Amino acid sequence: RYLALPQPADKVQCMYIWIDGSGENLRAKSRTVDFTPKSPKELPIWNFDGSSTGQAEGHNSDVMIHPVALFKDPFRGGNNRLVLCETYSHDGTVHRTNKRHSCNEVMQKVKDQHPWFGIEQEYTLQDTDLHPFGWPKNGFPGPQGPYYTGVGANKVYGRDVVEAHYRACLYSEVKIAGENAEVMPAQWEFQVGPCEGIDMGDHLWLARFLLHRVAEDFGIVVSFDPKPMPGDWNGAGAHTNYSTGAMRQPGGMKVMIEAIEKLGKRHASHIRAYDPHGGADNKRIDKFSYGVAHRGSSIRIPRQCSDEGCGYIEDRRPASNCDPYSVTEMIVRTTCLGETD
Ligand code: ADP
Ligand code: MN
Ligand code: MN
Ligand code: MN
Ligand code: MN
Repeated sequence: RYLALPQPADKVQCMYIWIDGSGENLRAKSRTVDFTPKSPKELPIWNFDGSSTGQAEGHNSDVMIHPVALFKDPFRGGNNRLVLCETYSHDGTVHRTNKRHSCNEVMQKVKDQHPWFGIEQEYTLQDTDLHPFGWPKNGFPGPQGPYYTGVGANKVYGRDVVEAHYRACLYSEVKIAGENAEVMPAQWEFQVGPCEGIDMGDHLWLARFLLHRVAEDFGIVVSFDPKPMPGDWNGAGAHTNYSTGAMRQPGGMKVMIEAIEKLGKRHASHIRAYDPHGGADNKRIDKFSYGVAHRGSSIRIPRQCSDEGCGYIEDRRPASNCDPYSVTEMIVRTTCLGETD
């Protein structure tokens, strides 16, 4: 009933959100402002204790957060806002954990090519003991098969979280495209896109924040670990679908193949950029390959795009815990800017 209390019209709650020193986890804290921000630039730069987030030493601990994107707040409602931020050192230099800054510079350079992305974010729901949610505590569910896109209480675990997250994304105007239950029980996927340029990273990070925050209300933990359960259980990825204006036009297949060839020549560098541990989470992918409708290859050309002769390509290599700023920056550097190494 506290959230139903009337809120003074001139008091707006802003929750500042940033990526911490792990490159995977999000942090957030709130402040009151006396206006409804229309642009992130209207909001004050703020700071936090970087010695508690793996981003600074104790003796010089202030890290600055600069608002860069605004979203409606589905938890507090009204005029309250979620504020995605970039991190900077106190001297104004880009913080080493800030992957958005260089991504944005690259996206500005290629904006005439209108790069679009769509990311398929896989994840696992866990109990607070970090055991997969809904699994028996002293054993395992039956083998994989019935769970992917399943329905029924013995097939999927945690749909309440998925539904709440989907609606929270729509409310916040995060460009969520869909969801589905995945191959391992308690594993799910949501898709964000198509998003142009820097919006891909912004919307995916916000969607991740919303998922953690929604699941918190259910007492459930979200894991973006690419291999949450050892053994014969599905890993998790973040397939990144990609197109430029030229790929989406009639005859775009030629441009798609050229892009794939450039990606193939720079495979090792992409793998290093596709997880937060410099490729360590992605060791299993050592050889580059591509194919139409081929789900075992590094790059897949969707069947429909092959039939139509234009569309988009799917880079299946990014790990579920990737930084989408690093992934999209790398794809554009290789395919649009022609960088080799
Ligand atoms: P899959 O068949 O691999 O499971 P999904 O349906 O889960 O694919 O996800 C497809 C993703 O591709 C979505 O995020 C969607 O927004 C994105 N997408 C669709 N068209 C384009 C395009 N032209 N360029 C980039 N991304 C696109
Ligand atoms: Mn304090
Ligand atoms: Mn998918
Ligand atoms: Mn999937
Ligand atoms: Mn896919």
